[in-house]
Amino acid sequence: MSLSGKIALVTGSSRGIGAAIALELARRGSTVVINYRRDAAGAAAVCASVQADGGRCSQLQADVSAGAEAAALVKAALERHGQIDILVNNAGVTRDALLLTMKDADWDSVLHTNLSSAYHVTRAALRSMLRRKAGRIVNIASVIGLTGQAGQANYAASKAGLIGLTKSLAREVGSRGITVNAVAPGFIPTALTANLTAEHQARILQETPLGRMGEPEEVAKAVAFLASDDAAFITGQTLSVDGGLSMR
Ligand code: NAP
Repeated sequence: MSLSGKIALVTGSSRGIGAAIALELARRGSTVVINYRRDAAGAAAVCASVQADGGRCSQLQADVSAGAEAAALVKAALERHGQIDILVNNAGVTRDALLLTMKDADWDSVLHTNLSSAYHVTRAALRSMLRRKAGRIVNIASVIGLTGQAGQANYAASKAGLIGLTKSLAREVGSRGITVNAVAPGFIPTALTANLTAEHQARILQETPLGRMGEPEEVAKAVAFLASDDAAFITGQTLSVDGGLSMR
């Protein structure tokens, strides 16, 4: 129970990778705050699983792509639990299109949800971490932020931006005992990837040395490691959990 007594906030944890992260952090002893935008039933189900496992959790609705809601989310979590030891910026969306045909709204919503949300949530949570001279921040990036992908310029820019934010903030707060890292998943079957064509999936598998898709739980275990005391001397890093896909 390496995370016993810790409070973790996981954005976008009503399903998929975020839900797996919340469950894994709770399994290791952390109290988890489940954040969702629309899927209240999904968030309630994740919370029920945590509790069924003997863990503690609460749920907070907030659209983290909006700065004011992101700040209010952190305020509510702090009011409820007194501190945030672990922050996982996981909420993310895709709106794929070739650049020439991309709608401004699709560019903006991906950048606001995947990148600006991390800026707003982190800034709101950082003050209390700085006061306590301790904290773990893990940003969920993507293999696409490392390699780029035709049809995903908005998504790739948001995830590459998240990696830049991770490194810069790691330099700013390292002397205060706070680590900031990113995890870059490869292809994980969730609602986010459900619309990929069979050909696209086959191509990804062909380019993945381990020859399979990853599981949300495999991403969650990497996050739990970076959130633990075992990772105390690791900061500013991007850990790929992608079956080797980003080596291409
Ligand atoms: P998912 O199944 O679609 O889940 C996305 C989660 O984010 C949901 O809980 C959703 O909540 C929440 N969310 C979306 N917009 C939000 C907002 N504005 N405010 C608050 N919550 C919001 O996706 P996933 O595959 O688990 O992805 C999780 C993260 O991993 C994302 O950052 C994604 O880019 C990254 N990632 C995924 C893959 C993959 O292959 N799946 C690969 C690399 C990186 P509601 O349903 O309540 O709206």
